[in-house]
Amino acid sequence: MSKKKKCLIIGSGPAGYTAAIYASRANLKPVLYEGMQPGGQLTTTTDVENFPGYPEGTTGNKLMNDLRKQAKKFGAEIRYGMVTAVDLSKSPYKITIEGNEVVQTETLIIATGATAKYLGLPEEQRYLGQGVSACATCDGFFYREKIVAVVGGGDSACEEALYLSGLAAKVYIIVRKDHLRASKIMQTRVLSKANVSVLFEHETVRLTGDKGVEGVDLIKRRGKADETNVSIPIDGFFLAIGHTPNSTLFSQWLETDEVGYIKTVPGTPRTNIPGVFVAGDVADPHYKQAITAAGSGCQAAIEAERYLLTVND
Ligand code: NDP
Repeated sequence: MSKKKKCLIIGSGPAGYTAAIYASRANLKPVLYEGMQPGGQLTTTTDVENFPGYPEGTTGNKLMNDLRKQAKKFGAEIRYGMVTAVDLSKSPYKITIEGNEVVQTETLIIATGATAKYLGLPEEQRYLGQGVSACATCDGFFYREKIVAVVGGGDSACEEALYLSGLAAKVYIIVRKDHLRASKIMQTRVLSKANVSVLFEHETVRLTGDKGVEGVDLIKRRGKADETNVSIPIDGFFLAIGHTPNSTLFSQWLETDEVGYIKTVPGTPRTNIPGVFVAGDVADPHYKQAITAAGSGCQAAIEAERYLLTVND
């Protein structure tokens, strides 16, 4: 078994890298495991214009590379590898990498993010960043005065549609049922927007377009006597059918809500296990922004430092 670490971070999005910057500057000599998608969800978007400090905008990849470089500059050790198991029964916590190597750590920062759900259409991957997005706040700006569709009927879909209604010329919400699942207040808001139309009982079957998204094919009232094929020209297709927090590895040990988001002591990144902290989307069903994830990574690292001071007193 390798030497015990003071601080181990799992995840390489803005939360993980920011935690690594702060932890390395506090001399915790953090080790960060990047996982399968170094850079996290942001590497699947193109331009990023809402991260403070980049008045000209940047790209998701560049932003993540910059954060990574900054963490390395202060001595964070960044390792590639998937964490395949954790044992949080007692400190030091045992983290298994790729099923064989076990690393022990006094503090753990979980920044494994969340994965947006997709419908599973082949075109979603083909047009990713070229008309397909799972984040209106990130990409909505590119659809000013254009026509967009949001798929989903929950609060996220309504929130995305409301945001887009302030930018796009027209917003369709594609809902598979005959009603919205979203809270009443969100429904009222969305239905009162003149440029938003809700297409109830519509299922997405295909995205069309040569270089990027140019249209969507839908089936209205599938399986009913009046089933109809509907095609709408659109420039952007936004997924809002939920996110899956990447918390499965930890759910045996940490309290999660019914969706799987890791629960924290309110207003802090502390979990129900001392020395184990969370940052970013794995614990955030509400904001899901790069900047909020980065902020919570900073909080988690500061908490880890303070925790180590108290236990090693
Ligand atoms: P939800 O699970 O609440 O809603 C997902 C929506 O996507 C449902 O309408 C569902 O349809 C639809 N959907 C799922 N799979 C498919 C599919 N394959 N094809 C078509 N439609 C599909 O997720 P949200 O992300 O909206 O919300 C998650 C949680 O976060 C909720 O508790 C929500 O209240 C909360 N939230 C709160 C916000 C706020 O308070 N401002 C903002 C955003 C989220 P169906 O209804 O048919 O199952």
